[in-house]
Amino acid sequence: MVIAIDGPAGTGKSTVAKSVAKLLGLFYLDTGAMYRAFTLYALSEGTPLDDLKSLKRLLRRFSITITADRVYIEGRDVTTEIRSSEVTANVSYISSLEFVRKKMVELQREIGKNRDIVVEGRDIGTVVFPDTPNKFYLDAEVEERARRRLNDEKDAVSGTDLETIKKSIEKRDRFDSTRAISPLKRAHDATYIDTTDMSVTEVCDVIIRSVQ
Ligand code: C5P
Repeated sequence: MVIAIDGPAGTGKSTVAKSVAKLLGLFYLDTGAMYRAFTLYALSEGTPLDDLKSLKRLLRRFSITITADRVYIEGRDVTTEIRSSEVTANVSYISSLEFVRKKMVELQREIGKNRDIVVEGRDIGTVVFPDTPNKFYLDAEVEERARRRLNDEKDAVSGTDLETIKKSIEKRDRFDSTRAISPLKRAHDATYIDTTDMSVTEVCDVIIRSVQ
């Protein structure tokens, strides 16, 4: 079984997906963390992000290990680092590159093979696992999404205010939903859930009831 959860930034995908996975005893995969990890890798290797040849070379030796709550690059724990504002500012660009998406989608399908899994991202229902009947698209008003991000990232991004986060979210969503390859969009058969006024428990209930 694959449960696909897509939607823009700050809609509660991670919290909900993790919780559903725990309640149903399924594996949890955060695909955004994979794109973030490669972005961090490129930045920390000092690769100019417009040097596609070097990025391709880097991607070939990119080794990621991802568990329900930790991310490692070449064995180094980067769980906190991949949430930095520098990574967040560059991840949409990196994830718009065709060769990056190709490799990540391959990895994601490999991880989902022979496993019951909850996968969250932007293109899970449309591209990565289009055949699953369990597709959900989470959305929320941007003000609320910014508030959630502020609470989420309070420790990681000191000095960031609500308005800055709101602008950054809007910019990232615009980029993610207008890119040429696998843009963020609701699969035609995905259940749409507006989480603005819903609690995590309520969203999980809707998903679990629908899956069962
Ligand atoms: O989910 P999160 O906000 O951590 O994702 C970071 C970025 O990774 C997104 O803004 C998007 O550019 C990219 N992403 C993607 N496809 C996915 C998951 C994330 O392009 N399936």
